[in-house]
Amino acid sequence: MGLFSKKKKEDPPAAAPAKADEVDAPQPEKKGMLAKLTKAILRTRMVLNRKVLGAVGLGQKIDDDVLETIEEAMIEADFGVETSDFLMGVLRSAWKSGKIETTSDIVPFLRKDLKHRLTHRGNKLKFADKGPTVILVVGVNGAGKTTSVAKLAWFLEKSGHHTVLAAADTFRAAAVKQLETWSERIGCEIVTGSEKADPASVAHKGAERAIEIGADVLLVDTAGRLHTQKNLMDELRKIRNACRAKQIEGAPHETILVLDATTGQNAVVQAEMFKEAAEVTGLFLAKLDGTAKGGAVLSINEKVEVPVKFVGLGEKLEDMQPFDADQFVEALFDLESLSAENETD
Ligand code: GDP
Ligand code: MG
Repeated sequence: MGLFSKKKKEDPPAAAPAKADEVDAPQPEKKGMLAKLTKAILRTRMVLNRKVLGAVGLGQKIDDDVLETIEEAMIEADFGVETSDFLMGVLRSAWKSGKIETTSDIVPFLRKDLKHRLTHRGNKLKFADKGPTVILVVGVNGAGKTTSVAKLAWFLEKSGHHTVLAAADTFRAAAVKQLETWSERIGCEIVTGSEKADPASVAHKGAERAIEIGADVLLVDTAGRLHTQKNLMDELRKIRNACRAKQIEGAPHETILVLDATTGQNAVVQAEMFKEAAEVTGLFLAKLDGTAKGGAVLSINEKVEVPVKFVGLGEKLEDMQPFDADQFVEALFDLESLSAENETD
């Protein structure tokens, strides 16, 4: 509890922007975003359907040969060898225990199983109980951090959360300019430092400003330099400490790692590094529109053991959505639009 903590009764719950524990996707755009998401994982879906359902056929009794064919299909869909092995283990034990008997049982079983795996860690953004929620955004250069910070700011502003940006990637002047341009477009405040300023000092300034103007959220963009693991750890630790700005309890409340979904398994390696350097609480999978490897979402989720919270589906502010596992898995196994796709492709 610091200087700025208030007694509960002084909080104006009615007038304040919704400060729920969770925030949902804006509803009207859901359909269009589902189409984008479906398109993003187009090839995965086709590989899954054609191989899993086509090559082995429906209604076939499951045996070792059938399972092997399915495993090949998963690898082709870029589930990754380890995730495929893991999923095959799941399928194999489901088969041995009699939960699945024929190939017709596979998709319904996986649908349910994958949904559970993708949701059980919780996919919603967590907000601070009081005071500004601090969200630190980390990841390697070019992963899509700055764009994702802008998308998050836009999304949060739209859902009534007054947001401040901190341009803590002070390494390149262009990075600050890029975020400034986004902030103008979004209409939210941005805190910057002088060129080559200590990133932690900018984060600190951002935290102070957020308190000063009573913002709901502070989003901190960072540099993605990775000279050494120690360098990364030291820098992120400094920024994390600075975010607290003494008065913000528990900050950062979220540390979102942005991963470039087009890099597939490489993203998993990056995630391991960042997990060691910072307490990553959620993933923002950027560039899902640029990959036919939608299966990577499953692989990343399984191996990184951090929930996917957002997906990026293009370069514009609205090209993002909170990760919806139900939608994702449905799109992955979407059988109905398969024939329509063949016509349009
Ligand atoms: P940073 O270095 O991690 O801050 O990455 P940037 O935010 O500067 O993004 C690098 C490039 O990826 C830019 O050209 C962005 O427009 C692009 N980008 C970011 N997110 C997405 C996305 O979801 N889809 C696509 N297609 N491009 C993206
Ligand atoms: Mg950047």
